[in-house]
Amino acid sequence: MVKLRKLHEPLEDRKGSLYFDGCSVKELAEKYDTPLYVVSEKRIRDNYNHLHDALIRIYKYVRVYYAAKANSNLTVLKILHSQGAYLDTVSPGEVFMGLITGYTQDRIMYTGTSVRNDELKMLVDANITVNIDSQSELDRLLKISVPQIISVRVNPEIGAGHHSHCVTAGPDSKFGLWEEEAIQAYAIAQRARVEHFGIHMHIGSGILEVEPYVAAVEKLLSIAKRVHDEVGINFEFIDIGGGFGVPYKPEDKEFDWGEFASKVVAPFKNKISEYGLGKPFLCVEPGRYLVADASILLTTVNTVKVTPAKKFVGVDAGFNTLVRPTMYGSYHPILVANKLDKPETETYDVVGPICESGDALAKDRALPEVAEGDLLAVLNAGAYGFSMSSQYNARPRAAEVLIRQGKSFVIRGREQLDNLTANQKVQVDL
Ligand SMILES: *Cc1c(COP(=O)(O)O)cnc(C)c1O
Repeated sequence: MVKLRKLHEPLEDRKGSLYFDGCSVKELAEKYDTPLYVVSEKRIRDNYNHLHDALIRIYKYVRVYYAAKANSNLTVLKILHSQGAYLDTVSPGEVFMGLITGYTQDRIMYTGTSVRNDELKMLVDANITVNIDSQSELDRLLKISVPQIISVRVNPEIGAGHHSHCVTAGPDSKFGLWEEEAIQAYAIAQRARVEHFGIHMHIGSGILEVEPYVAAVEKLLSIAKRVHDEVGINFEFIDIGGGFGVPYKPEDKEFDWGEFASKVVAPFKNKISEYGLGKPFLCVEPGRYLVADASILLTTVNTVKVTPAKKFVGVDAGFNTLVRPTMYGSYHPILVANKLDKPETETYDVVGPICESGDALAKDRALPEVAEGDLLAVLNAGAYGFSMSSQYNARPRAAEVLIRQGKSFVIRGREQLDNLTANQKVQVDL
């Protein structure tokens, strides 16, 4: 018999049936239909507390900026706001959603790239801290208005990530300013009478090892010291970005916050004191870590198809609903929610309804024998899941449901056909 996967919170195996945060996923699928994203409020809070506690134990002045792009559902934003999170945003839309869910301007950071002038104007008018991504952006910002505070996104020349698309520092990266340019940028901002400063980096996404942070934070602090010494400014915050990974593959290990605390936060504390940098806030910007394992995607099996070469399980969620496997070749664990007690004796490609051959949630995946009508749960679907979904092939987007204290609530209704045509105007008279 094939060994069954060991489930951990908020997943539970009750007599072969999958429960998520105390709810039967079968009942959820019956009530709300599929494809369906299911979000655990408790898991988001637990993840936040776990991360925050690990940092604050070593250094008192910590700010956790939730990177909204991982999952910008308003309820998710509210939950994290109530935890005390700040917000990292990359578009005016995310700023808007932050403001309407209770994040005040002073709790929102903007880390854009290729930023428009009207975005910059909106940001300075609203007093939102901008992480400058280029010399041009700084020049254009100062021409519009001199903000109270400026932060520069630095390229520490060290990047990391689960896929080349997700490495956001290092020699080939479009993000941030290199050391000499960054120092110049601070000098220009100071001459323009900016009074408050931060410094920022974000090296990549889906990083499971602590090592890349050790080297990058060292480099960031050495740049901060040079800016402090050569330009003569003090930093209110030092932002080391996000990117903390979660285990997707069975062999992946969990991000080790204990190791991060001892190898990154403790040296950070020592170095800022050695360099005379005062007591700046240590900022982190987790997206994926807070929300990935707090959601699953439920999808129903429409077809089982056996060709002379392969076996396919056709489900009702494709890359329109979850694009990560197609876009990054990402692995998501998949459970047959009604057959947890059955051995994984078969090998299937799990494919969606989109008319492209790249439309697969999993390839050559060991699963129990699957039948039409079975319910699959795609795990770790909460980060870059719904937020990257689309209406491709003219399919309305999925619904989202929150589990809160054992009860389920719709937090985003399923799109209908009229969502597909909402902004269109037929202008030809045929
Ligand atoms: C995307 C992003 C993050 C979050 O990345 P995760 O891998 O989800 O933690 C943090 N900071 C910036 C600037 C980002 O663009």
